[in-house]
Amino acid sequence: MPRKRSRRAETVVLPAAKSLDHRPAPISPNDRRLNFGEKWSYAPAPEAHNYIQLKRRYQLFIGGKFVAPRSGKYFDSINPATEEKLAEIAEADARDIDLAVKAARRAYKSVWGKMPGRERGKFLYRVARLIQERSRELAVLETMDGGKTIKESRDIDLPLVAAHFFYYAGWADKLEYAFPGRTARPLGVAGQIIPWNFPLLMAAWKLAPALACGNTCVLKPAETTSITAMHLAEIFQEAGLPAGVVNIVTGAGETGKALVEHSDVDKIAFTGSTSVGKLLTQAVAGTKKDLTLELGGKAANIIFEDAPIDQAVEGIIAGIYFNQGHVCCAGSRLLVQEGVFPAVIRKLRDRIATLRVGNPLDKNTDIGAINSRMQLEKICQLVDSGLRQGAELVQSKALLPKKGYWYPPSFFTGVTESHRIAQEEIFGPVLSVMTFRTPEEAIERANNTPYGLSAGVWTDKGSKIFKIVSKLRAGIVWANTYNKFDPTSPFGGYKESGFGREGGRHGLMPYVMLN
Ligand code: NAP
Ligand code: MG
Repeated sequence: MPRKRSRRAETVVLPAAKSLDHRPAPISPNDRRLNFGEKWSYAPAPEAHNYIQLKRRYQLFIGGKFVAPRSGKYFDSINPATEEKLAEIAEADARDIDLAVKAARRAYKSVWGKMPGRERGKFLYRVARLIQERSRELAVLETMDGGKTIKESRDIDLPLVAAHFFYYAGWADKLEYAFPGRTARPLGVAGQIIPWNFPLLMAAWKLAPALACGNTCVLKPAETTSITAMHLAEIFQEAGLPAGVVNIVTGAGETGKALVEHSDVDKIAFTGSTSVGKLLTQAVAGTKKDLTLELGGKAANIIFEDAPIDQAVEGIIAGIYFNQGHVCCAGSRLLVQEGVFPAVIRKLRDRIATLRVGNPLDKNTDIGAINSRMQLEKICQLVDSGLRQGAELVQSKALLPKKGYWYPPSFFTGVTESHRIAQEEIFGPVLSVMTFRTPEEAIERANNTPYGLSAGVWTDKGSKIFKIVSKLRAGIVWANTYNKFDPTSPFGGYKESGFGREGGRHGLMPYVMLN
């Protein structure tokens, strides 16, 4: 019988500023000290991926066809869990963007813009059904290219992707009911730029409402996660979507910039960082282009003394460690009422020791790979700043694979509002914990951020929920839950988290002109 060890031994507290080398070195499987897996190991349960047909090269999708980029340039897409090259991706420049926008304009004028809503709806239903049919394959690809766990891509991302297409397919012939007494007309060609944290889901959030309203689209996926968008292009072909209605142009920031600067684009929809969002605002100022921005966040998850603490701890875990913290609405600041602070910290410390970090294709994995080396460096840099500024880091001692990009689930205590880790988005599995005494203080602290995307409230009292929620400057507030998404529910921010809403009836508004 192995000797019983306390679970608390399986997290490690790094004292303030003593060691800046906070990233645990990979632990050898023979190291008996803190190896959680030794006692509670699960048999490996890897999702099969040998049937996945990755192309050696992914081309651009323009005018209904896969075409080579004018420059002849390609870049590598790698698996962040193994650092292996998966495929080469075409790099689009301004000439390719011009072709894509022209194809979208032609399709808008000749078919899609004048097609009756009920016919557009049929195409969207077909796309949704094909996504469902191929959802396992798409989930595996999403996990391989982006590093998120198969548990999430299979059970959260892909069902939501299909649900978004189904939902907006339903609106296509009902726009007169969405905007009673008014006539909704499409805008024309939409340029849509998306990030790497939910590649297919962000594509669905952008494409489904735009298409339902009669617009045509040019979509630019993120450089590190383009593969699933190109498989989605195959689905558009299979669904018989008329050529040019959706065009997908891959590349890095320069490709996105060329799309934003193209003179024949009517609308830019962007999800990404606040810094790039600000550049886009300048770029479209004084042009005819409409703009919607979904940007960063630094959400407060507020735990009151009367909250069910065990559920709240699960909500904290779902809030910050979901998708390795690569979530703009992550509950990355935890505000705990003083009376329950010791209990919450103790339970949180025990709980993060149970999270399994590793192969994202394994169905038992809780924390997958960090999306890129660059993102890992950004996380490490902000954690260093937290230690330098005097906060205390608690970190799981989970075994980290030797290859790939990993960061263990972690949280900081002793955080003050002026610390960078309390103000800036870490976009990784690192939580900043602070305390408060009164509801007023909680509201003030929660709102003390340039962002305003989301928040969470945990309490036993419904009246308290309504009181607090009405005073939080955040686009989404979850009560006694966290990170729940639904296509019928609008999503978007206040302040530097952007403007415009995606999801729900509200999500149609950025894609129509109302008369
Ligand atoms: P990012 O650098 O802003 O990139 C987002 C997208 O914009 C990518 O496709 C990127 O291309 C492209 N891009 C970069 N520079 C551009 C430019 N000058 N002009 C036009 N396009 C440009 O953000 P990220 O680091 O990839 O993503 C993480 C950020 O997104 C976080 O801050 C997060 O909060 C935010 N986010 C917000 C939401 C939301 O709904 N509010 C959702 C997800 C993520 P490349 O990646 O190929 O360079
Ligand atoms: Mg990749």
